[in-house]
Amino acid sequence: MLKEPLPLGSTIGILGDGQLGRMLSQAASRLGFKVVTFGPDAGSPAAQVSLASKVAAYTDEAVLARLAESCDVITFEFETVPAASLDFLTGRGAVVAPSSKALRITQDRVLEKSFAREAGIGTVDFYEINSLSDLQGVLKSSGLPALLKTRREGYDGKGQVWIKSLEEAPAAYDSLNGRPSILEAKASFTREISVVAARGWNGEVKTFPIGENHHVGGILSTTLAPAQVSEAVTAAAHEIARKVLEGLDYVGVLAVELFVLPGDELLLNEIAPRVHNSGHWTQDGCLCDQFEQHIRAVTGWPLGDTSARCTVEMTNLLGPDILEWPALAAEPQSRLYVYGKDEPRPGRKMGHINRIKV
Ligand code: AMP
Repeated sequence: MLKEPLPLGSTIGILGDGQLGRMLSQAASRLGFKVVTFGPDAGSPAAQVSLASKVAAYTDEAVLARLAESCDVITFEFETVPAASLDFLTGRGAVVAPSSKALRITQDRVLEKSFAREAGIGTVDFYEINSLSDLQGVLKSSGLPALLKTRREGYDGKGQVWIKSLEEAPAAYDSLNGRPSILEAKASFTREISVVAARGWNGEVKTFPIGENHHVGGILSTTLAPAQVSEAVTAAAHEIARKVLEGLDYVGVLAVELFVLPGDELLLNEIAPRVHNSGHWTQDGCLCDQFEQHIRAVTGWPLGDTSARCTVEMTNLLGPDILEWPALAAEPQSRLYVYGKDEPRPGRKMGHINRIKV
């Protein structure tokens, strides 16, 4: 753990080399830190903007050991990094945040929802599924439709399949290739919101205003923030984020995705142990955005101001959307972010645009 803020010019290691690592690296360099990124792809979005990049598998112990030696703190930008790699780094004397314990819980949907329930946070009813007969047994009492998801590594709607009748169970189970899964009851939500929040080494917590999220085909399309929700919903969502941060003894930024039910009851859908797509609006809506906040949290710096300066609509630019860049770049009251990826494959996150709404 860090007892003192890291001095100017310290080195931060980031496991993961995508757009989140890129924007973390840019925020870190604005505060004078040096960044070393670590990931499997040469010329990645994060490597393009960092002082140095290690191209290796996340399990490469020789490279991890060098990273532990050369970095003052090490963090990660996505939750599929192996928790064992974080343990290895800690074993080599590195300061790592968030912790491998927080990562282990949040990279597994069953552990995550069990943690939420124990912390007094509502979730949909859920069932652990390890075989087709588990699934067929559970479906008799769970109610239909229900959503079968892989426990690990599903994101952007991948590794998920709706089951509308008992007959659909075998095909649904096969489609996830027999991987350990979770069956979730359907949440009849009226809106989806998220809270991005941070906790420092000293336990200080700061929450950003709520974002309202719209998904298309399971992928986030837009976030509008601050969301038009009641003060009670805002307070309840912030309280959930605080419980999650404290329950995980978390250091860094995380996002909590919530379903709003009729009557404004909130259920936790998912915790992302990292900066999050639904927090990109903060780059133009807040003086300290989520990326800078994460860097501040893990380096022991004071957390920054999270109040909203304006309303922002963030729109993801997926696949060929990015080819519209000349028109997007000409829009007034907006800011374009491009991730430096070469192939605009359908559904691939290529950039985003923040539009200021007055
Ligand atoms: P996830 O990857 O778990 O965040 O799911 C992606 C999207 O699928 C969510 O943002 C929701 O729109 C939808 N979804 C996920 N779980 C449920 C659920 N239990 N009930 C209804 N919709 C869901």
